[in-house]
Amino acid sequence: MLSFKELSLPLPLERALAEMGFQKPTPIQAQAIPVALTNRDLIGCAQTGTGKTAAFGVPMIVNLLKTPRKNALILVPTRELAIQIDEVLASLTKNLPELKVALLIGGMAMGPQIKALWKKPRIIVATPGRLVDHLHRGNVSLSTAEILVLDEADRMLDMGFAPQLNEILRFVPKSRQTLLFSATIPPDIQKLAARYLKDPVRVTIGVVSQPVRKITQSVIQTTAAAKNDALMDELNAREGSVLIFARTKRRTDRVARLLAQCGYKASRIHGDRTQRQRTDAIDGFRDGKFRILVATDIAARGLDISRIAHVINYDLPAVPEDYIHRIGRTGRAGAEGEALSLLTPEDRAQWRDISRFLERRRAPAAANLH
Ligand code: AMP
Repeated sequence: MLSFKELSLPLPLERALAEMGFQKPTPIQAQAIPVALTNRDLIGCAQTGTGKTAAFGVPMIVNLLKTPRKNALILVPTRELAIQIDEVLASLTKNLPELKVALLIGGMAMGPQIKALWKKPRIIVATPGRLVDHLHRGNVSLSTAEILVLDEADRMLDMGFAPQLNEILRFVPKSRQTLLFSATIPPDIQKLAARYLKDPVRVTIGVVSQPVRKITQSVIQTTAAAKNDALMDELNAREGSVLIFARTKRRTDRVARLLAQCGYKASRIHGDRTQRQRTDAIDGFRDGKFRILVATDIAARGLDISRIAHVINYDLPAVPEDYIHRIGRTGRAGAEGEALSLLTPEDRAQWRDISRFLERRRAPAAANLH
């Protein structure tokens, strides 16, 4: 598929895509949209940054317009990802005011969410915990949620959302379309898919896809004592925005504080910060008010900020596959990016695991990582 025009989409949607600057579908969109338009179930193996929001958003909107009795539910692991998806959907439905979207996420007051539900949204974007809260309080009915999207399903399971997912799945109709997206398809995701999807079509966009190929990866050998100096040297030698990952909330705070003391414009996000603080930090980083954002993995997953020039692993991720997610924050949608890891002697075993993981996935840059 060379252009969205070939899909003969409803005009308001076609116009919205053009206004968003989306002319050519990304590979995941080219593969997933035609399948999802036929109401088939789908497993999309793709990470955030490949254009997967529109890959499920576009066919979902077409199907919702075609069948007014149907509604859609999108479940995601984190508030940030939910907010991002809500923003993309707002753009896609810009010319379709009849398609209202409600955002149900934790860390925000219930009241406005209940009000949004009164308006009979056709699409709900939710994190599992908060949706279960609303279900228990009788605020929401999912009996017409005939389109279900499970986004970043692997992360939802990693974060321990399996019980909530199972509970939510009891409330949605059996006869429905389910679209599951996951960066990886480990056995527990296969089990989830076998349980909840019917004869799904599989679509895979591996880490060898465009966004990742344009990321230059490098490492610097240092020590725990010299790490901060190494970080400063690298920040001074580089231009453009920088996303720094630290291992814990406390280390995130500490790095951000150090940077601020040294005169860098830095902000921070992690799970203990309020939603308001997280949103302000992300917005400030996106707008260029802060050049640097320091984050833990939990808060940074799914973050879609275009033009992040550098990702720096101040600490290595605890889980090898998070390395892929982290470096995927740069070089998004075709832009160039750089990923740097600061390695101390204590990191040796973890780095070996990451390298092996990359080799197994045949990531293109694996060869020059040693
Ligand atoms: P996603 O994986 O949905 O988070 O999308 C990653 C980035 O790619 C976002 O910044 C989108 O705005 C952008 N994007 C998605 N689809 C397209 C497209 N067809 N053309 C250009 N940019 C796109």
